[in-house]
Amino acid sequence: MKLELDIIPLGENNRDVMDALKRDLKEKNFIVRIFGRMNIPKTSLNFYRKQYDADVIVDTLRKMRGNVIGLTNVDLYAKSLNFVFSIAEYDGPSVVSTYRMNPTFYQEKPNFDVMVQRLVKEILYCVGRMQGLNECPHPKCLMHRSRSAGDLDFKNGNFCKECEINNTLKGINL
Ligand SMILES: [Zn+2]
Repeated sequence: MKLELDIIPLGENNRDVMDALKRDLKEKNFIVRIFGRMNIPKTSLNFYRKQYDADVIVDTLRKMRGNVIGLTNVDLYAKSLNFVFSIAEYDGPSVVSTYRMNPTFYQEKPNFDVMVQRLVKEILYCVGRMQGLNECPHPKCLMHRSRSAGDLDFKNGNFCKECEINNTLKGINL
């Protein structure tokens, strides 16, 4: 059965990124719906950090049904972490930020494809978490939590053998 993913653009999002994302996720056999733009909740902005609290954003998405993924280009943090690429809840929504996925953030040349590859890997990690998969210690595995752009690049876009077996045992089809 194909899994349905509902992408909610939060704030300003690049149209080309959305189109590329939709194409790549469809290739991976998801049904992808892109919703109309929503505003980022003002209460999520931490004025002193100049970052947005990912937990507050997820709270506002929780009222929507389905596999909801908020997509934003603002910088996210969560709890004690300096920044996060995303947070995702089991059986709940997730929020993902492209802010630190763009090579220009690291004073590198713009590279659209690199950014989209990083984004797709992070979204697949979120979908796994939403489906009830645990984080995985293997750095190449999709279910490994990425703490840097390098971590994302190191992943090969697949689950490790153990995670694949676990998915099958749990009846999860990713
Ligand atoms: Zn794994």
